[in-house]
Amino acid sequence: MPSLRRLFSSLVQWIDSDYSTESPEAVRARPDGVNLVRCLPFVVLHLGCLGVLWVGWSWFAVWTAVALYFGRMFAVTGIYHRYFSHKSYSTSRVGQFLLAVWGATAVQRGALWWAYHHRHHHLHSDDPEDAHSPHVHGFWWAHIGWITSRRNFPTDYSKIRDLARYPELVWLNRFDIVVPVLFASGLLGLGDFLAHAAPALGTSGAQLLVWGFFISTTALFHGTSCINSLAHLMGGRRFETADDSRNSLVLAFITLGEGWHNNHHRYMSATRQGFYWWEIDPTYYGLKLLSFTGFIWGLKPVPASIYEEAAQLAHRDTVSRFSVSSVQQEINTLRRVVPTAAALAIATVNSGQAVLPKKADGPAWHKDVSGELVGGRTPAPSPSATPPPAPPAPPPAA
Ligand SMILES: [Zn+2]
Ligand SMILES: [Zn+2]
Repeated sequence: MPSLRRLFSSLVQWIDSDYSTESPEAVRARPDGVNLVRCLPFVVLHLGCLGVLWVGWSWFAVWTAVALYFGRMFAVTGIYHRYFSHKSYSTSRVGQFLLAVWGATAVQRGALWWAYHHRHHHLHSDDPEDAHSPHVHGFWWAHIGWITSRRNFPTDYSKIRDLARYPELVWLNRFDIVVPVLFASGLLGLGDFLAHAAPALGTSGAQLLVWGFFISTTALFHGTSCINSLAHLMGGRRFETADDSRNSLVLAFITLGEGWHNNHHRYMSATRQGFYWWEIDPTYYGLKLLSFTGFIWGLKPVPASIYEEAAQLAHRDTVSRFSVSSVQQEINTLRRVVPTAAALAIATVNSGQAVLPKKADGPAWHKDVSGELVGGRTPAPSPSATPPPAPPAPPPAA
């Protein structure tokens, strides 16, 4: 029964993600589609959030969830993305292993699976081969659907040889359930311990599990997925990349700096994704601080040529916006208005004599010959203008 064998294979893969009855190439050659067995972990994760109805809340549990959201968002962005996917800084072999463990607490599978798919995304951004392009497959597929597809399940180690040569990383990637289970168990144990050691906190093992694991991890998943879906739909484009990546301040807040996705698609090797001081990038600030400890080093900068390109594009945009939207429009308006106004003026001048009424009978509006301006009023008679007295009338004839 091939379908039963596939079901068995899917269940075993929850523990050993490299287990497969087919080669990764054969699996990747399959058509895309939602695999219901692969949906179960997401259903469990979301349903787990409803546990809050039973365990209630406490400030300690809420702040734990918030801290674990940002602490693990940093793990996704600063470790899985900027280290394992792009090698934008260096660390020791032990450091690399510790980073991979930290990243695995995000419950987004192993670092090598993550890096392999992300490098594939950069190679095929927004083309039909891209596993999660909202332009090719739609928003929900880019956001969550692609992860449930069987063809996106295997890690193709041949495409990430620089990482696959470390057996400890391959082990963490293969048994990617180990760290999340330990992480969730740790929260349960911590909550139980605090319930007895510090009852004033009002928390419990179940409460910390719901808030610190289920709610925080669900939010973390959707926050991270926004980069696959919304960061190719929402925001502005500084660079003319071949894909439709965008820069968004809102997404930068949610993802600790990953919102500057268009910057990143233009130059993916830089440690920072906010290329300017006003483009907030907390992941970069965290990595910079970490570099002062010596745990990581060799943070890669944005090259001067990229800044020059950005300046040229900004200048060109300003010029085109200025000329098209204001000056050019005014010129176009003047081109329409001036000939009309000139024609009206000429017509008015030419027809002025024929149209203007004669003022002979009305009040005087013009400078009269004596030099007095008398507009609107009847001129007072001047002495010189007084007519001579009339001669006496002749006596009537007798
Ligand atoms: Zn992208
Ligand atoms: Zn990237």
